[in-house]
Amino acid sequence: MSAVKAAPFDPAALVARFEGAGAKAGFRCEVFGAAGNCPLVALTKRTAGPRPRIYLSAGSHGDEPAPPLALLSLIESGTLDARAVWFVCPILNPEGLACGTRENASGTDLNRDYRHLDSPEIRAHVGWLRRQPNFDLAICVHEDWESKGFYLYELNPDGRPSLAEPMIRAASRVCPIDMSPEIEGRESKGGIIRPLLDPPSREKWPESIYLQVNHTRLSYTIETPSSLPLETRVAALQAALCKAIDLTVRPRR
Ligand SMILES: [Zn+2]
Repeated sequence: MSAVKAAPFDPAALVARFEGAGAKAGFRCEVFGAAGNCPLVALTKRTAGPRPRIYLSAGSHGDEPAPPLALLSLIESGTLDARAVWFVCPILNPEGLACGTRENASGTDLNRDYRHLDSPEIRAHVGWLRRQPNFDLAICVHEDWESKGFYLYELNPDGRPSLAEPMIRAASRVCPIDMSPEIEGRESKGGIIRPLLDPPSREKWPESIYLQVNHTRLSYTIETPSSLPLETRVAALQAALCKAIDLTVRPRR
């Protein structure tokens, strides 16, 4: 693959954009930690009455710029409205984003640190998560430097109605789907990976496993191919996220 990684950008400026857009859209912005000189922030918005609780995270890999931008655009466009209670952690690895690297400044892949909590970022993030209620839906937003198209992982241990196929269909209107029979060493069908998980047997946990063990029974990790133009990747992520949100706030049947 190309050695050219993501163009670094200023995470503090991005946090400020989230704070501004979040305040306008009625979000509470909470600082739960810091990485380098950049705050780690969570945006939450609660509307009275029963609502599905939806958690969205991005930016744990610093060479994946489309995910934070996709979440910012959802906040700016008013998509994260009164239909749900929202929990958004948009920039989990500011140092990585500043350098354009997957890892943080100490070389830790933060999305493998959710079992042992070695990094200050993930210790702070898990500390924040422990103060939150369970989520009806969680989506971790990522990109992939090697994939041929959009794909996703589904963790759905109770066999709840799946959002995977509709999300893939929504993304397919914007960008190609990776139809490989195997992605990242796992069996894949139509761009959907449904890994069989035995969390205790896994030495390193990504965020999605931590969430399944502690916070949610339905989660997705969605991935766009980094080789496509940034705007296309942001649009594909938005399309999949909007579809999952629509189906969660208006359950089928
Ligand atoms: Zn990633």
